[in-house]
Amino acid sequence: MPVRVPEPPAPQPDALPRRQLLVGQFILEYTLRRSTRRSIGFMIDDEGLRVTAPKRVSLAEIDNAIRAKQHWIISKLDERRERRAARLEKPPVVWEDGAVLPYLGGELKLRLYTATRNRTDYNPDTRELHMGLVQGATETLLKERVRTWMQQQAKVLFAQRLDLYAARLGVQYSAFALSSAGTRWGSCTVQRVIRLNWRLIHFSLPLIDYVVAHELAHILEMNHSAQFWAAVGRIYPAYDEAKALLRKRAQELPVLFN
Ligand SMILES: [Zn+2]
Repeated sequence: MPVRVPEPPAPQPDALPRRQLLVGQFILEYTLRRSTRRSIGFMIDDEGLRVTAPKRVSLAEIDNAIRAKQHWIISKLDERRERRAARLEKPPVVWEDGAVLPYLGGELKLRLYTATRNRTDYNPDTRELHMGLVQGATETLLKERVRTWMQQQAKVLFAQRLDLYAARLGVQYSAFALSSAGTRWGSCTVQRVIRLNWRLIHFSLPLIDYVVAHELAHILEMNHSAQFWAAVGRIYPAYDEAKALLRKRAQELPVLFN
């Protein structure tokens, strides 16, 4: 049976320089990335505030832009902190026989047995994932194998959904890859390369389809304009509900693999 090992440490903030700014009575910390974009951009994730700014913009100008947006930034940071706390309060998955994992909007039960070689079989009728583990296999190895299996399922399923919705929208994407970004569910480049977060496999098919439709619509509109949402709506009319539900489900997701 797998050995329980301590959780690996939380991911470290990236190597970008961290800057501090006094905003009212708060010290706001942020990472700054220089880019070729034309305006200053703000993004908030579990690591805090990230600012992207054109090379020619001075640090004083960046600080002013942050101050101008301080209410939005602080409320988003609070929201993010609350969500993170709520997620960490949930009991973590105990990696043992009978463990229940989120899969396609439902639950999948892990069935472990000792085997002479590693093998994995999924029974869709019982929703049981049978995994043969060699003697002395660690929890780290078990998690790695479950993640690999989920990623394989994601790769096949997402490709099918992309093809289906691309045909409906009348667009063609050039390539598709899985991503594992912490906070993004999908992306689409100007070269029409679509990336979908493999963790979407935890959610129901309608939610996966929403992200698929969303990214495909970016082939037509590289923004979130009214025209963009109209394109999404042509192939996925209930996108508003899906968008809200995805946010909710994402918050409810337990910490599984780090
Ligand atoms: Zn988008």
